[in-house]
Amino acid sequence: MQEPIYYTDAYQTTFDANVIESVEENGRFGLILNQTAFYPTSGGQPFDMGTLNEHQVVEVTNRKSDKAIVHWLEEKADLSGPVSGKINWSRRFDHMQQHTGQHMLSQAFIQLADAPTVSFHLSPKTVTIDLDTNELSQDKINEVETYVNQIVWENRPIQIKFVSLEEAQALNVRKLPPVAREKIRLVDITDFDLTACGGTHVTSTGGVGMIKIIKSERQNKKVRITFACGVRALSDYGQKNQITSTLTQQLTTGLEDLVPNIGKMQGDLKQLQKEKKQLQSELVTYQAQEISKTAVSVGNYRRIIHILPDGNQTMLRTLAGSLTQTPQTIALLALIGNGKTQLLFSSSEDVDINMNQLLKGIVAELGSGSGGGKGNTVQGGTAVVDPQKLRECFEIGSNNSLNE
Ligand SMILES: [Zn+2]
Repeated sequence: MQEPIYYTDAYQTTFDANVIESVEENGRFGLILNQTAFYPTSGGQPFDMGTLNEHQVVEVTNRKSDKAIVHWLEEKADLSGPVSGKINWSRRFDHMQQHTGQHMLSQAFIQLADAPTVSFHLSPKTVTIDLDTNELSQDKINEVETYVNQIVWENRPIQIKFVSLEEAQALNVRKLPPVAREKIRLVDITDFDLTACGGTHVTSTGGVGMIKIIKSERQNKKVRITFACGVRALSDYGQKNQITSTLTQQLTTGLEDLVPNIGKMQGDLKQLQKEKKQLQSELVTYQAQEISKTAVSVGNYRRIIHILPDGNQTMLRTLAGSLTQTPQTIALLALIGNGKTQLLFSSSEDVDINMNQLLKGIVAELGSGSGGGKGNTVQGGTAVVDPQKLRECFEIGSNNSLNE
């Protein structure tokens, strides 16, 4: 197999080649060509996509045994002899911008923060490098960002060179390949960064467009930098611009007032929630007075049955607490809403009825649900039940226990 086309020309998108072998593996079908412009996944850069004749190339990998480049097709194709290849340029160019930007950032972090890159990850949504450092201040990150973008705007030429290991060792190369090779491919960003790499790169720093550091986060003893270059940086800017525009419109405020305004709204919301809680508790106290009037005598007890059409668990508990302040009271409460029925049975402290048994008996009567607990307050749940039926079930179910 000849040297891959992208090794010397990353901008060539079409080529002619001959099929020299077809491969079938785990139900997949692949082709090996005598030459190719398709980049196989390696060095952190994902594979190219595109077509061979009219067939979609869905993945490109290096065969383990001999490093041959395998073009995996969407489906089995009867291809032999000459084929025309075409790579998906927008995908390739995106990878070129991100990968070149990565080289530049890696060099800048060494120069300004003494932080070498230990790994590089490029996926359709994010690009990251992990730096071997414990701490990185925001000021330092800003400094690196300004510095690399200056190099972008200086539009320095980027050249590909092939050298021997001895020659590479004599040069100030940032990173050498982990396995010894006869010929080493170097990516040379003029007077800035020189590193061994098999990836595809733009031919001058201006082609990166811009480099934006999006976030940094500590991970174990490393710092992960998420960034975006060129087209990705533009679309990231577009997305964020759209979000801030929507927010400034919704809040009728300027961009610079957005953060303080949201902070104020959060404070207001907290205050309102506090007030709402206070009002709910007052409402429940008032409701308890009204509901208390519906108590009926069963045996020696005051029995109260009440079904709330809406509310929440806290309201239910507060209501039960309030109702059972009166001695000899048994409150059988339910809350129907959100596709379920919550049950809360409570008795005043002087009542010696086993509330857990009472609840379990009623749940069994209802035919579905569960519940339990210890002491004066027990709770359970069941499916949505007709309020009238629920009331009857509460009455019948408690009559026996309270009359004993
Ligand atoms: Zn590289």
